[in-house]
Amino acid sequence: MRVLYVEDEKFLAEAVKHNLEKQGIKTDLAFDGEEGLNMAVASIYDCVILDIMLPKLSGLEILTRMREKDVRTPVIMLSALSQVEDKVRGLNLGADDYLAKPFKTAELVARIMALTRRPADIQSETVGFLDVEYDVNEKTLNGEKMTAKEADIMYELIKTPEHIVKKEYLLNKIWGGEAYADDNYIEVYVSRLRKLLKKVSTHTEIATLRGLGYKLVEK
Ligand code: CA
Repeated sequence: MRVLYVEDEKFLAEAVKHNLEKQGIKTDLAFDGEEGLNMAVASIYDCVILDIMLPKLSGLEILTRMREKDVRTPVIMLSALSQVEDKVRGLNLGADDYLAKPFKTAELVARIMALTRRPADIQSETVGFLDVEYDVNEKTLNGEKMTAKEADIMYELIKTPEHIVKKEYLLNKIWGGEAYADDNYIEVYVSRLRKLLKKVSTHTEIATLRGLGYKLVEK
């Protein structure tokens, strides 16, 4: 679990980081809006926590630009102004949750956990698209077993069908920046998944968007 916390009050930022890391949540900090936006769109977080009042770019602007770039990481907005308008604006712009300052770490942790709950934590879950069904616990696609990495990649594709899943995203998410992994790894796994899809499905395939990534689409 890794989160990004964008907060210009450095003392608060460091304190929250300390508390989150005690709970096993790795926390990266950005102290202004520009840095926060760059980190949020380039990297790979399970959750992004945005203060609203920030130098350079506000939390709401970061959120807007993230969503424009199709970065769909869950976002929790923070604001000292626990005003309804802020909350509504944030949620309209695509925030997933909102927390008023001051807040308790336990409350923030609870929100992060709620937004990032992995399907593996849930008993018997399936995710479907067209004629394929992914069983999260069994790691099967229409009953055919996948390897762990195949299953991880397939999960990323099938949870957001018809959306581009970027190569860098997959590399970071699945291999966590391990030095040996590169684009070729992903291509190998994707080609294996294509074969599997051919075997189990007649309507679903993985499309390549050259230079960008992949998406699961109707054939
Ligand atoms: Ca602030």
